[in-house]
Amino acid sequence: MSTTCALCRRVIPDETIADPQAIQEHHLRPEERATSPTVMLCRPCHDQLHAVFTNAELRADYDTIEALRTADRLQEYINWIRGTDKLRVQTTTSRRVRDTRR
Ligand SMILES: [Zn+2]
Ligand SMILES: [Zn+2]
Repeated sequence: MSTTCALCRRVIPDETIADPQAIQEHHLRPEERATSPTVMLCRPCHDQLHAVFTNAELRADYDTIEALRTADRLQEYINWIRGTDKLRVQTTTSRRVRDTRR
């Protein structure tokens, strides 16, 4: 068995997942967890999208996986991660996102 990350489309074989957090469920509408559709993402993609978008932005503009996949702010990241087999990366939360969280 394996899991395909919905964002970067990398296939993560189960036997390489020593860390149960390596694949995470993302709620496409973060503030409506009970009813929100979810997608499975590798941890770097999940970290990255929450570092780049606020929950309000996710709700308003990026509540589908297609919107996320084609988001300008993620293209550079997606191109990069697709060329690696990393399941853990250092993400820096953008200043814009940090400011909204205050
Ligand atoms: Zn991914
Ligand atoms: Zn999430």
